[in-house]
Amino acid sequence: MALDLVVSGATGRMGRALAGLMEDAEDLRALGGIAPSGPEVDPAGSGYPEIVPPDACGELIRRADVLIDFSAPTQLAEILDRHGDTLDGTALVVGTTGLEAGHHERLRAAAERVPVLVAANFSVGVNLLLGLVERAAGALDGDAYDIEIVEAHHRRKEDAPSGTALALGEAAARGRGQDLSDLRTDGRSGRTGARPEGEIAFHALRGGGEPGEHVVHFLGERERISLSHRAAGRELFAEGALVAARWLAGRDAGEYRMTDVLGLR
Ligand code: NAD
Repeated sequence: MALDLVVSGATGRMGRALAGLMEDAEDLRALGGIAPSGPEVDPAGSGYPEIVPPDACGELIRRADVLIDFSAPTQLAEILDRHGDTLDGTALVVGTTGLEAGHHERLRAAAERVPVLVAANFSVGVNLLLGLVERAAGALDGDAYDIEIVEAHHRRKEDAPSGTALALGEAAARGRGQDLSDLRTDGRSGRTGARPEGEIAFHALRGGGEPGEHVVHFLGERERISLSHRAAGRELFAEGALVAARWLAGRDAGEYRMTDVLGLR
């Protein structure tokens, strides 16, 4: 029997990519989408039989096996606040980035009732890269190798640095046995003075249609090691989210990671 999926953010780039892939997958069925009402919300040709606003999606969610969210932090929060109680039996896959402490708190509460998987990036390559970066950061002396993370995304991306860049920074900090919040700096401008020891710096390029590139540089006095990943299209992330949805449906309540799905631990 096909899995019934509901997509929050149905009218967006990721929502459309998911609809296209679900149409070709015999084991998945797009039950409906969630998006704020507006002229662009026309289910005809969207790949979703119906698209409802976040304040009226309780019934749709109740009928779904998995709710996939690629929207915006505000929409995710609204859905969890209004309909968190109706999530029983519906697994939750979250790809939305730019989440803050309050969102993670709501997701932890949801994970007490249903299986929840949050991933800043659904690609095999980036999840592999997270492990490689943690290992490299642990192996390279923090006094001798400075870490700089550069990411590039399309001109419409709303958050910076990207969720993936932050996850890579967290992996690097973990490799050094430290917390990213103590080391993070975003960009540089003006008379910055010498680079503080141990700092992990983020730089965000925005433009064109770039689906996502991340490079983690380890800069030493006489060499530079760079670990990088480039997505060829956003179908990569949509396909990964569907792999996660298939894996998550029917599991016990709790928090899961993409590395669990991919067996990369
Ligand atoms: P998009 O702007 O094309 O679509 C956003 C969708 O959310 C639309 O349906 C829009 O109507 C809805 N929405 C509701 N409230 C909104 C608000 N306040 N601002 C903007 N949109 C709002 O975005 P996208 O490229 O489809 O990306 C959606 C989210 O997924 C973003 O947070 C993005 O960073 C993230 N993303 C994650 C991955 C991953 O692998 N985890 C990959 C790509 C994108």
